Amino acid sequence: MTFKDFVGQDSVKERLSRDVLGVPSHAYLLTGALGMGKTSFGMALANALLCKNPTSDGACGKCNCCMCFMAGTNPDFRRLTIPEDKKQIRVEDVRKQVVGDVSISSQLSDRKVYMIDGDGLNEEGQNALLKSIEEPPKHVCFIIESSDSTKLLPTVVSRMSEIKLSPLSENETLEVLTRHVQSMDNDEDIDTSIDSLRMLAAFSGGNPGRAIATLSETDFGKEIEEITNIVLKMPETSFSDIVCDTYNYFNDNKDRIEELLLLMLWVFGDLCYLCKSENQEDTPIRNGKKRQEYISFLKKNKYITLARLGKAADLTTEFMKRLAVNVSFESACCNLLIKIKKELTND
Ligand SMILES: [Zn+2]
Repeated sequence: MTFKDFVGQDSVKERLSRDVLGVPSHAYLLTGALGMGKTSFGMALANALLCKNPTSDGACGKCNCCMCFMAGTNPDFRRLTIPEDKKQIRVEDVRKQVVGDVSISSQLSDRKVYMIDGDGLNEEGQNALLKSIEEPPKHVCFIIESSDSTKLLPTVVSRMSEIKLSPLSENETLEVLTRHVQSMDNDEDIDTSIDSLRMLAAFSGGNPGRAIATLSETDFGKEIEEITNIVLKMPETSFSDIVCDTYNYFNDNKDRIEELLLLMLWVFGDLCYLCKSENQEDTPIRNGKKRQEYISFLKKNKYITLARLGKAADLTTEFMKRLAVNVSFESACCNLLIKIKKELTND
């Protein structure tokens, strides 16, 4: 991959172009949440640093260093990740593959690049690495990925040049999704309509990896449909069905609970906008496909006020916070659903 293959991150791309053609840092710290593309950027940077004829877009893709890099056989590139059966990178691997190796000259390229998963380095591993990062031989460059740089020792962070991958805009995320959809086989008939992709782009908070994972692992369109139906049918669903069927739906999808709750907040949000609007047909809302259903819901259940919808949204947010502190899922979830049902019921 070259730098221009990435959507967004313009300042990062400009910086890397300049460095690759000029004087690169001896150590880069690539930061950003999981899914932001640290590994892809790191690999593109490593390839460019090893390339014989780099351009402002990064690696040339044609020289023998690039050929070997793409085949995974460039002897001047080392990558240290967490072994499959372990939770951390072993200190002996840091010592053997990095510390004991940096002084050996490069073979093909003009420099050697060590790319390390910083999330897998414990304190001992970081300390082992410290001296190499502090005073590396001239031909050596480090790239360390980190999804949480507060877990790295300040002495390590201060020796590195940080490159931060920031969340993409909604349009940029939409572009990533559109490119992904064009390249995938849609065997499972996933809803890839532009409306669904646009909602997914907004939903993913500018994280392209999260957006793609949500699209591939879940049928996002179907999920929105299910959550919307749960909310819109709540006034006529009995309390016993709420604690049984509705609860079971959330419990069966517990691994995606945050996603489902966020979608529920979207439904409440759309209903709030429509509830306070004097021109419901033109009010901008997240899920335009459901506009007519939302409007008839509000018309049919006139007692549902902005205050009640706001309360339902607050209860949902409160539940999300409580989930983070390990409350009993069953009682907290049933409690939430009953309280929301009360807000959406005419008493
Ligand atoms: Zn090249």
